[in-house]
Amino acid sequence: MRAVTFQAPGEVRVDEKPDPELSARDDAIVAIDASGICGSDLHIYHGRVKIAPGFTIGHEFVGTVTAAGDDVTRVEVGDRVLGCFHSACGTCFFCLKGVFHKCDEMRTFGHGAGLGNLQGTQAEKALVPHANMTLRKVPDGIENDVALFAGDVAGTGYHAVASAEVEPGDSVAVLGLGPVGLCAVQTAIAAGAGPVLAIDTVEQRLQMAKAFGATPVHLTEQSPREVAKELTEGRGVDAAIDAVGHPDALDLAIRLTRKAGTVVAIGVYAEPCQVHMGLVWIKALTLRSGHANVIGHVDRVLGMLASGTLDPSPLVTHHMALDDAPDAYRVYDQREALKIVLNP
Ligand SMILES: [Zn+2]
Ligand SMILES: [Zn+2]
Repeated sequence: MRAVTFQAPGEVRVDEKPDPELSARDDAIVAIDASGICGSDLHIYHGRVKIAPGFTIGHEFVGTVTAAGDDVTRVEVGDRVLGCFHSACGTCFFCLKGVFHKCDEMRTFGHGAGLGNLQGTQAEKALVPHANMTLRKVPDGIENDVALFAGDVAGTGYHAVASAEVEPGDSVAVLGLGPVGLCAVQTAIAAGAGPVLAIDTVEQRLQMAKAFGATPVHLTEQSPREVAKELTEGRGVDAAIDAVGHPDALDLAIRLTRKAGTVVAIGVYAEPCQVHMGLVWIKALTLRSGHANVIGHVDRVLGMLASGTLDPSPLVTHHMALDDAPDAYRVYDQREALKIVLNP
């Protein structure tokens, strides 16, 4: 089969590899119909996340089950399925608490030996461990391009809004309008939030957030703090979501949020970062962090996608052939695309 492999920083390649085979009783093999390129793939592409040359990358996928072990009961051969970006065992201390993203046996697709040594999904086929946990049948009527979002990007936007404990009528600020930020905007609006301030510098992304029902705020041409004050009788927003993963974004999120509000850092942090703890403390803010519990949310997210309450399809800006992956990564790296879907 063909698979997109990391070679060196700035270089991916389409390689011929042996087909994956079942090994555990709850494994499944999925023939991939569509796989997304994600911001976290860029961390690998740039060499910030170290993986071995030749490792298959990718972690967002929709496909068809072609083989399943005896213990796989929730999906069967022939089912169209979507995958979560990582697997979970379902029985460890953390899984029993429902925090599947902290599973002791968590394995993330396409992230190398450090995150479970699980080959990625930008390929013709993928091995899926703990298939009962990791896979869901795609409800009829949901297109591959949309279902693809449930296992990562839309699940992450959902997680941010759920972590912020957004209630109808709450004001929310979303910082950073990449795919996760835009999905957080949609979810916040679906949760009844308003106003939802959508903050970025890219006009096209601000316009998309506006089309979803948010109040677009240009980070540098406007003052997000002034806008937040104007729209909240001077208090600040009830919750702010940092979908960037940069100290400046986190600092602004802390400043935009009202006293006793909630700040959610859903963007990726890997290094020390200064937080104005005096401000967090005096405002009595709740600060939440970590990547998303997509397995915990995936069924609700699928329900919202099936009903059309969430519709991430405008985020798909490019379809490209799996064989064109090197070009696709170049386009994505130049920030010319929101979401690229690769089709084998
Ligand atoms: Zn992703
Ligand atoms: Zn577990």
